Amino acid sequence: MHENKRGEMSSDRAERINNKRDREKKVIGQMIAIYCRKKHGSREGLCSDCREILEYANARVEDCPFMETKTFCSDCKVHCYREEMRRRIREIMRCAGPRMLLYHPILLLKHILISRMGK
Ligand SMILES: [Zn+2]
Repeated sequence: MHENKRGEMSSDRAERINNKRDREKKVIGQMIAIYCRKKHGSREGLCSDCREILEYANARVEDCPFMETKTFCSDCKVHCYREEMRRRIREIMRCAGPRMLLYHPILLLKHILISRMGK
């Protein structure tokens, strides 16, 4: 599961990057959904505030030039999130993070949460 090898240039490199992108977007989407349900009482879909954050986060993932090497946006040195959005997404992580671990107890996610909460 955990890949430690670095520097290998395989033919499925582009696909790996794409998968990583998709995974990051999926995790963010699930966290925002949990948060919105809990905090805003949304039953289906997201409220307009949370939809805005989701779109913003997805756009950041789409544009990220470091997708291949970084672990997650929270770890990125480039901090492309606007300050306000960063604050909002951190709140979402704090709220939804522990719940996410119940459903997705994967190593990557743990890593994300630890790095997000530490800031
Ligand atoms: Zn909401």
